[in-house]
Amino acid sequence: MNSTGAAVTEGEAAIVVDGVTKLFGPLAALREVTFDIAPGELVALLGPSGSGKTTLLRVLAGLEHPDGGRVLIDGADATGLRVQDRQVGFVFQHYALFRHMSVFENIAYGLRARPRRRRPAEADIRRRVGELLDLVQLGGLDARYPGQLSGGQRQRVALARALAIEPRVLLLDEPFGALDAKVRRELRRWIREFHDRTGHTTVFVTHDQDEALELADRVAILHKGRLEQIGVADDIHDNPASPFVTTFVGETA
Ligand code: ADP
Repeated sequence: MNSTGAAVTEGEAAIVVDGVTKLFGPLAALREVTFDIAPGELVALLGPSGSGKTTLLRVLAGLEHPDGGRVLIDGADATGLRVQDRQVGFVFQHYALFRHMSVFENIAYGLRARPRRRRPAEADIRRRVGELLDLVQLGGLDARYPGQLSGGQRQRVALARALAIEPRVLLLDEPFGALDAKVRRELRRWIREFHDRTGHTTVFVTHDQDEALELADRVAILHKGRLEQIGVADDIHDNPASPFVTTFVGETA
């Protein structure tokens, strides 16, 4: 395969994707994808529509199970684990906030949904939600409903909801997709600062090259289910690993 770059050795990686293949009937949405993500790294999955980005993110989340290969999270095999057992937080484009619930209830949802023996006491839930609202800089908005917030604020509530379960890994699917250009720029800057402040290992999907190159520590480029290249932005520009990468990076630059 064409990929360059395991960032770290297996024992140190936050995420190891090892030869992952995912089939939908005759279609291979992912073909033997292999790469590592270091703890605290911010990695973008970039590629044209249909290249397998969302499928890969869903495999990391545990929403899809691979037909071949394995996924390790913090050194442990997570391949067969269900979503609720792998401690990942995710913000998917179409996984919107619950509109009939307040901001507080939205963020508390994941904690309240836990089995009784792992569910925090109500006072602890209140404290935790308060901390999360401060973290995403929305303190004081806990009684609002999603309809009373701007698009950027809603995305930050979705992020707080994902963080409530104290995830090891944060997965974001086109986190800026539905927003207008100005809010998109602001939120992009905010996500980078947030990442630098909190150090969560983060993987996000985008089809926007500028977004990927500006935000991510490393960019993974997918094409027809294959990982064409993973590397830092400059390296991808200067040393594209395949004709596809040359064309793709050139086209949208
Ligand atoms: P991207 O996120 O890069 O646009 P996807 O991961 O959504 O790509 O899709 C990769 C390929 O897998 C596409 O050809 C898509 O049609 C197909 N695919 C994705 N999900 C399913 C599914 N649940 N059933 C059948 N085909 C799917």
